[in-house]
Amino acid sequence: METQIKDLKYWQARRAALAIEGRAFIDGMYRHARSHETFDCVSPGDATVLARVEACNAADVDDAVSAARRAFDANVWAGLNPRDRKATLLRWAALVREHADELALLETLDAGKPIADTTTVDVPGAAYCIEWFAEAIDKFGGEVAPADHHLVGLVTHEPIGVVAAVVPWNFPLLMAAWKFAPALAAGNSVVLKPSEKSPLTAIRVAQLALEAGIPAGVFNVLPGGGEAGKALALHGDVDCIAFTGSTQVGKQIMQYAGASNLKRVWLELGGKSPNIVLPDCPDLDRAAKTAADAIFYNMGEMCTAGSRLLVHRDIKDAFLDRLIDASRRYAPGNPLDPSTAMGAIIDQAQLDRVLGYIEAGRREATLLLGGSRAPAIEGGFYIEPTIFDTSHGDARIAREEIFGPVLSVITFDTLDEAVRVANASDYGLAAAVWTADLTTAHEVSRKLRAGTVWVNCYDEGGDMNFPFGGYRQSGNGRDKSLHALEKYTELKSTLIRLR
Ligand code: NAD
Repeated sequence: METQIKDLKYWQARRAALAIEGRAFIDGMYRHARSHETFDCVSPGDATVLARVEACNAADVDDAVSAARRAFDANVWAGLNPRDRKATLLRWAALVREHADELALLETLDAGKPIADTTTVDVPGAAYCIEWFAEAIDKFGGEVAPADHHLVGLVTHEPIGVVAAVVPWNFPLLMAAWKFAPALAAGNSVVLKPSEKSPLTAIRVAQLALEAGIPAGVFNVLPGGGEAGKALALHGDVDCIAFTGSTQVGKQIMQYAGASNLKRVWLELGGKSPNIVLPDCPDLDRAAKTAADAIFYNMGEMCTAGSRLLVHRDIKDAFLDRLIDASRRYAPGNPLDPSTAMGAIIDQAQLDRVLGYIEAGRREATLLLGGSRAPAIEGGFYIEPTIFDTSHGDARIAREEIFGPVLSVITFDTLDEAVRVANASDYGLAAAVWTADLTTAHEVSRKLRAGTVWVNCYDEGGDMNFPFGGYRQSGNGRDKSLHALEKYTELKSTLIRLR
C-alpha cells in the first residue's frame, strides 16, 4: 500500500475540503446559541475567518447544565459498570485517533500551532489521556478502613455531579482532555467551555463522543467567551469547576464559587518558570538546545515555558552562543508546513501584548536575538524568537508571564543566589536545574517551590503518571495521574454497624 506523503500540499488540500462545525453541543445534539449571536473564528496563521461560531451565554449555560444534571440524575453514565464506561471511553479515544488528521488540521488552523506538533503532541496526547483515564477507572477502588470491631467502614469515591471545564487556547484539545477525561471516567457529566480563540476541536470531538456511545447530556460543549465561563462558575447547579487559564481569571473563578454554591474549584494557572544552568552542567549543547525548546516550543505559549534562564557567570558566554544558535531553528513559518517549528501567535491582541513586552525589554535589558514581528505569511501573527539579557531578575520582562517567544537571561554567581532568584516569583508551576552532581540535583529540587522540577531536561514526562500543577499563584490541584481522578470525586465514609 502506498503511504501518503503529508506535506504542505496534502494539508492545503485537506483544508480546502474541510467542513467546520461551529455550533454548541448540548444534550447530544448541535444547536445554535439562544441569542443566535455568533463570533468570527479567525485563523492566526493568515487572519482568515475559518467559521462563524455560536456565542453562548448564560441562557445556553442553563440549558447545558440542565442537560448535564438530568443525565447525571438519570444515572445513565455514572450508573454504568466501570468497565463499561471504560469501553465507551476507549471507543471515543479510538475515534479521536481515526480522525487525527482532521483534528490536527483544525487545531493548527484555529490556534496557529505547527502541524508537526498537533499531529504528534496535541491530538495523540488527547487520545492517550482519554485512554489512560479509561484504563484507570476499573482499577480505582476505595478503602475498607480500620474501625471498631462492631463496624465495617467503607471509604468510597463517588462522582461529584456536574463538572464545568473552562480551558485556554494554547493546547485547546489537550488541556480540555486533561479535564474531561478524568471527570467523565469518574462518572460525572461535563460541560466544557473551550476558549473563544480556539473552540473548533472541542466542538468536533463532541460528535465523536456521541458516536462512541457517551449518552446525551453527559458531555456538552459550549463555545463562547468570558461571559459563558462566568455563568458556569456562578451556576448553582454546577458542582465543580475545573479551570485552566490566567491567574487573573483564576482568582475571579474562586470568587464566583464563593459567591454562589461553593462548588469545588480546581485551578491550573500561569507561570514564569526558571531554568537554572549550573557551571557543572553535564552537556552544554543539549542544555542550550533544551533551553531554546523550553521557551520557543508552541510559540512560547506554554504555561511551563522556561521563560527565565538562570546561567552561571562562568559559563554564560559559551552557553549563550549555543542557545542563540539553537534558537534559530524556531524561525516562524507556515503552520501547515510540516517543517515549521514555530507557528503563529494566537491573535492580534496577544501579538500586541507580546510586542509590548518586547518594547519594555528594549528599555530595560539588552536584546540578543529577534525582537520583531515576522512576516511569515501576510496577515498572520508571527513573532521572532526573542532573547534578552536582563542581567538581573527585577526587570518586568523577567517577572511577568508574557506567554510568547521571549526569553529573559539572568546571570548568577552562587547556588544560593540562583535558588533565591528562581523562587522569587508569584508563580510556582515548574523549574529545572542542570548539574552533574547528584547531591546538588536533589538539594536544589527540594528547594525549588514548583509543582514540577526537571533535572538535566525540560518538559519531559509525556505520560500521564505525573501530576501536573502549580504551587502558589500557579494554581491548586493537579491535572494528570490518579490524583486528577480524585479531584472529580467526593469521598464518602459509610459505617455499617454489625451488631
Ligand atoms: P484566560 O484566563 O484569559 O482564559 C481562559 C478561559 O477562561 C477561556 O476559556 C476564557 O474564555 C475564560 N474566561 C475568561 N474570562 C472569564 C471569566 N471572567 N470567568 C470565567 N471564565 C472566563 O487565559 P488564556 O489567555 O486563555 O490562557 C493563557 C493562560 O493560561 C496563561 O496564563 C497560561 O499560563 C495559562 N495556562 C495554564 C496551564 C496550566 O496547566 N497551569 C496550561 C495552559 C495555560
